[in-house]
Amino acid sequence: ERGRKFFAAETTFVKGVVAMSGLPPADRVEICFAGRSNVGKSTLINALTGRKSLARASNTPGRTQEINFFERGPLYLVDLPGYGFANAPVAVVDKWQRLLKNYLSGRATLRRAFVLIDSRHGIKAVDEEILSLLDTSAVPFQVVLTKADKIKLGERDKMLTQVRGALAKHVAAYPELILTSSENGDGIATLRSTITTLTEQ
Ligand code: GDP
Repeated sequence: ERGRKFFAAETTFVKGVVAMSGLPPADRVEICFAGRSNVGKSTLINALTGRKSLARASNTPGRTQEINFFERGPLYLVDLPGYGFANAPVAVVDKWQRLLKNYLSGRATLRRAFVLIDSRHGIKAVDEEILSLLDTSAVPFQVVLTKADKIKLGERDKMLTQVRGALAKHVAAYPELILTSSENGDGIATLRSTITTLTEQ
């Protein structure tokens, strides 16, 4: 498998960042992961890197407003905080949105954002906000559908059509979708090789 060797090597946690001043030097290719909380982001990052608990699922509003940097050889994997908490305080959301905006628009080494979407739910209003932000920040993004093991085959094509339709209006979107399951490993190899290719360009 392409990408397996790359990811088999040690991935390490670098730091959690709460302000632009805390960003590590932009000295390597960077990709980031975004998604509504509970979409399966931590589980996917762990599956991708082959580490059991590298990215911790910490679903507490206010505690998760950090941008987490992981290092894997010539690459930074960046875990953006989950969005869409129903009860997050307005001040917390505002601060986070400012940081996110500044990060996305100001990080020259950021090659691609992977936006995780639950394959049972598709693209919702809460996801549209980040997709629009990626458009205006000129950050190319690709949608990764999660929890593919949870949808029936018959529903899958309908969902893919819905997601493709929603992406049509986003200038920064890659048309290719990656359907994944951290449960049975579907699509993980594809995602790994996509990321590996980005580091080689
Ligand atoms: P995060 O908040 O986006 O980091 O979400 P987590 O990674 O904590 O996952 C949220 C829940 O979804 C957990 O209960 C996971 O076990 C479950 N989950 C994550 N990925 C998958 C998957 O591919 N398939 C299934 N069936 N469940 C998953």
